[in-house]
Amino acid sequence: MNNFEFHNPTKLIFGKDQISNIPNEIPANSKVLLAYGGGSIKKNGVYDQVINALKEYKITEFGGIEPNPHYETLMKAVKIIREEGIDFILAVGGGSVIDGVKFISAAVPFKGDNPWDILSKGLGKQLTEAIPFGTILTLPATGSEMNSGSVVTRVETQEKLAFGSPLCFPKFSILDPQVISSLPERQIANGVTDAFTHVMEQYLTYPANAPLQDRIAEGILHTLIEEGPKVLKDPNNYNAASNFMWSCTMALNGILRLGVPTDWATHMIGHELTALYGIDHARTLAIIAPNLYRVMFDNKKDKLIQYGERIWGITEGSDDERAENAIIKTVEFFHSLGIQTKISEYTDDYQQTSDIIVKRFEDRGWKGLGEKADITPEKVREIVEMSY
Ligand code: NAP
Ligand code: FE
Repeated sequence: MNNFEFHNPTKLIFGKDQISNIPNEIPANSKVLLAYGGGSIKKNGVYDQVINALKEYKITEFGGIEPNPHYETLMKAVKIIREEGIDFILAVGGGSVIDGVKFISAAVPFKGDNPWDILSKGLGKQLTEAIPFGTILTLPATGSEMNSGSVVTRVETQEKLAFGSPLCFPKFSILDPQVISSLPERQIANGVTDAFTHVMEQYLTYPANAPLQDRIAEGILHTLIEEGPKVLKDPNNYNAASNFMWSCTMALNGILRLGVPTDWATHMIGHELTALYGIDHARTLAIIAPNLYRVMFDNKKDKLIQYGERIWGITEGSDDERAENAIIKTVEFFHSLGIQTKISEYTDDYQQTSDIIVKRFEDRGWKGLGEKADITPEKVREIVEMSY
């Protein structure tokens, strides 16, 4: 195992009817920005619960944060917060609203001329201030409710970039699994797939002599495989919903990466597919991950064999066959959730994709991604072209 430090300050409040607890978590007399997305919270009763809980606060609403939150929209919230002297933000939504709020929180006190630099110049670690915020999670998927990362899209340039800062952990997150009952199937399938891939990016690397980390990762994968389809079938199944929700948080709250190598190249390549074609985040991962495992087969073979045996019960065949069968099982799982795994199933206009992505990675100096920093732009080209 590698050395590690761990500090996660986010307070989780998990369970039925917990939204009413907000006043215990936001300092009295705070001026609150209530940030949300396109309006799902007004249809499923979450908005009413939040407004009811915030009666004693002065609130300003900021709705309309889109999926894959837009820099252009978030900067409007930054302006409002600066003008109105708002000192707390409450994010009510999925990963997009929460990630958007993380960026707003960092951008408000940012001293530079151009807050986009936080993303494009990787200034996250240098931030010294951020506006405190809490979250009410409405879509289990990203883990953003208990981590300090954020991904923002700039429409003008079709870029999607990530940043992270220790200042951008939510102060608290309220996870009421009942919110899942209004989720469309598409978003439940996305949530399972995103969380599954978060686990894989921290598990499917070279063996690191970290059996506890492996077993936690395998526990989350098994739970997603068992509970995900139950939630798809019946989003009112509270027990399945709560285990699904907790799995998604556990998949990316920092615990899995302790002491082990991590990859993240699937996410980095996937972000480009969303930026270029608007493909849902999770679906880009289902497109890229299997082919990344194939192109980086030698790096990942030992772990693929372990994964195949412990998750899918694959014990027959040569080592190469077992590893390849584990990849096939993964693709079949995504298909069983209704997720397509080829770029051409989402857009007809894909022929230039590898050229565009390789050029972007070269321009950014991303010469070697992955746990061994050996996913070169040429390997990225191979992975993307296998995904057409
Ligand atoms: P999302 O983009 O937040 O939401 C997708 C859709 O689901 C929206 O249209 C939203 O509608 C709807 N929705 C949310 N909750 C709902 C509910 N309870 N009932 C009905 N509809 C609901 O989806 P997401 O997958 O959570 O987030 C994706 C974003 O997170 C991407 O930008 C991705 O890159 C990022 N991400 C971040 C991390 C991280 O660690 N920070 C990790 C992975 C991915 P409304 O807008 O109307 O609410
Ligand atoms: Fe993700």
